[in-house]
Amino acid sequence: MCDVKQRIHEIAEEKRERIAEMNRAVWSYAEYGYQEVQSAAKLTEVLEAEGFQVERGIAGIPTAFVGTYGSGKPVIGILAEYDALPNLSQEAGEAERKPIEGKRYGHGCGHSALGAGAVGAALIVKEYLKETGVQGTVKIFGCPAEETGFGKCFMVREGCFEGLDLCFTWHPMDLNRCFTRSSAYYKVRFDFKGKAAHAGRAPELGRSALDACELMNVGVNYLREHVVSNARIHYAYLDCGGDAPNVVQETASLLYFVRGPRLAVCEEILERVKKIAQGAALMTETNVNIKVLGGMSDFIPNPTASRLLSDAFVEQGAPDFGEEEFAIARKFLDAMTPEDREKAIQTGAKANGISPEEFEKRPLSTTVIPFSEKDRETLSTGSTDVGDVSYNVPTGQFRAAIGVPGITTHTWQFAGMTGTTVGDKASQAIARAIARACTKVYADPSLTEAAKKELLDETKGIYISPLPEGAVPGDGM
Ligand SMILES: [Zn+2]
Repeated sequence: MCDVKQRIHEIAEEKRERIAEMNRAVWSYAEYGYQEVQSAAKLTEVLEAEGFQVERGIAGIPTAFVGTYGSGKPVIGILAEYDALPNLSQEAGEAERKPIEGKRYGHGCGHSALGAGAVGAALIVKEYLKETGVQGTVKIFGCPAEETGFGKCFMVREGCFEGLDLCFTWHPMDLNRCFTRSSAYYKVRFDFKGKAAHAGRAPELGRSALDACELMNVGVNYLREHVVSNARIHYAYLDCGGDAPNVVQETASLLYFVRGPRLAVCEEILERVKKIAQGAALMTETNVNIKVLGGMSDFIPNPTASRLLSDAFVEQGAPDFGEEEFAIARKFLDAMTPEDREKAIQTGAKANGISPEEFEKRPLSTTVIPFSEKDRETLSTGSTDVGDVSYNVPTGQFRAAIGVPGITTHTWQFAGMTGTTVGDKASQAIARAIARACTKVYADPSLTEAAKKELLDETKGIYISPLPEGAVPGDGM
């Protein structure tokens, strides 16, 4: 095969419809973490039809799977996700709020496109391996419940990724750019138990669990000043003790996320948050039960894997958006407030190196920003369970554009855009980029050794699972 780049492009063209069809199908199912039954069925059906050997229900998770093609080393993993988010259902292409009737969940993080692009990449790699007879294996992993369920952490714990030499994945966003470091986090539940009493006649007999929660939150808000500045601590009330002010609240519960640049940092902060909870219990003469539900490690962008993916994406080109996609994007741009709209245009123009006037007409990212050393150090304060894979296998992860700049993931707008040809084209583009990166590894397996050395230098071979002992998938959802 003389021109691999050209051939990958041709194969990607042949797989175009399949990829779009996967995005649309998974988008329409919009299933929550660990309930992605139809989505996993769709993706595994496609893989089997294309000649992959598929194993379902891996790591004891019914909606997790692995599809394998090829033989021998190098073994490259590609990660797919397909879970949706609650309250983000939205009609495709609609720039005004319009949930789909009877649908609660929506692909506000674009995971339908993520899954379609990842599986699409594996399909392209398969054709390449078949045609060339080159030695190597591709494994496509179906990874459930990224949003709320730490799916990949369980898959790591069960050894699903053992034997991989390198791993690639991507995430929809508003730019075509390498993934930077992400934050680690712990998800922890605090259940306070006090004593109910008549709040008017005999408050002295009551011990308020709600007071304890409030004091705990006040304490944590004072703690904020004394933790590293890139830490994030946020909470929500799971139970505020009922709706009767005249009953001293016997129970009340809080859910906390403690984020930081490394899991060890989160752990330190978490220990201090726990002390505050105990202090609040002491002050209110209540009891507190603390339960770590899970967490995620920070993502380590592997330099070799990131560079490979970056070069491949630049070579194969950004999503080839046309007038149809720009028209959709303009609708979403025009629905913004004038201030947000202006900001989006300026940001998009700058990122794509074109004039604001030009970007206003074509408000989607159409250039690939290559990987730079800075991406290794830049920290995003969001989190992903790809982090846990990246501690065990050298991993490269890119972002590809679906949203208009300023339309972030976890919004109904993002769900609305993912279910259109914008989502399809982003998946198709990243599929050929990931596939091209894989072919570069098959052509030069020594790259995997370099990548593994970089990983070892970074982690010293130490990986601590953020999962508490005995955790099972679905805990803390
Ligand atoms: Zn996501």
